[in-house]
Amino acid sequence: MDTTQLVQILADQGQPSYRANQIWYWIANGASTYEEMTNIPLQLRDTLTKSLPLSTLELIDESHAEDGTVRALFHTHDGHPVETVLMRFRDGRRSICLSSQSGCPLTCTFCATGTMSFHRNLTKDEILEQALYFQRFEKLSHAVFMGMGEPMLNLDSVLSACSRLPDIGVTPRRTTISTVGWLPGIENLTKTDSRLRLALSLHAPTDELRTQLVPSNDRYPLSDVLSACRTDAEVRRQKVFIEYVMLGGINDSDLNAKELSKILDPAAFKINLIPYNPTGSYSSSTADRIDTFRTILQKSGLPTTVRLTRGQEIRAACGQLAANRSEHNESP
Ligand code: SAH
Repeated sequence: MDTTQLVQILADQGQPSYRANQIWYWIANGASTYEEMTNIPLQLRDTLTKSLPLSTLELIDESHAEDGTVRALFHTHDGHPVETVLMRFRDGRRSICLSSQSGCPLTCTFCATGTMSFHRNLTKDEILEQALYFQRFEKLSHAVFMGMGEPMLNLDSVLSACSRLPDIGVTPRRTTISTVGWLPGIENLTKTDSRLRLALSLHAPTDELRTQLVPSNDRYPLSDVLSACRTDAEVRRQKVFIEYVMLGGINDSDLNAKELSKILDPAAFKINLIPYNPTGSYSSSTADRIDTFRTILQKSGLPTTVRLTRGQEIRAACGQLAANRSEHNESP
């Protein structure tokens, strides 16, 4: 819902401002019509039904993978694509992968979103609506900003959406903001003193290699970004997650693992190795290679995990979001 418009309508109708909170309470608890909001005067419910859609996002397509992953493609009111993924894990976790932008202005060479054009930043309401859509069917426990876009380029809206997530049961400690290493954004997050988790998409241990994979590294080089992350870990007293996508023959050698262990202090970082989800440009590292890589990192004392890949067959996995409809709905 466009909350700016809501506040305006309430003022025009001479309604007390607490009505906005009452309405939010209903929405956060899964209401999908104004009719259900029984503590809101009938006439106001009618006015809102006629003038303010409960969600500004229109569902265009939804695909389901066998592992329980669901990918939704929405359009904003002005026609821009937004993708959101719900991941279901065996231990009961329900994690929502949110987009912060429609498209992405960055051009990481292995990521499908980087190949589509950048449309615009999403509003706080458009970010929240992605979560609300899924929360109507299922109680969510975690949120990650690992969908389309670079959250640090839209940090105000991201933080504002995050401040509402606890109302639907997703606490800051269970909310992760993943960044390409956009330095000013990391520094701003550190200043918030919130409990939100920070993840850095590192993908390479040296500037030379990283610039090839993540061109924005040119602007904010490794040592500066890692130093900002260490400060964040110290100030906000929680480790920063490192994401490292495993690209066969590119960044997965023993030497790369040793170099990584030298630049990552186990007191500040833990690392998550991400099997590469094919988007065309690279091949993935073999399972054996990932295993050896992990062992080297673990021996150096760095907490290391390997990410479970979800939803590949519906192109819902990390880096595969490029606003494609699922095959059966594609126009000829
Ligand atoms: N812009 C943010 C968030 C979006 S990407 C960022 O860069 O962190 C979320 C994660 O998916 C990032 O770690 C990204 O590097 C990773 N990713 C992108 N393409 C991928 C692919 N094809 N396979 C696996 N992971 C990928």
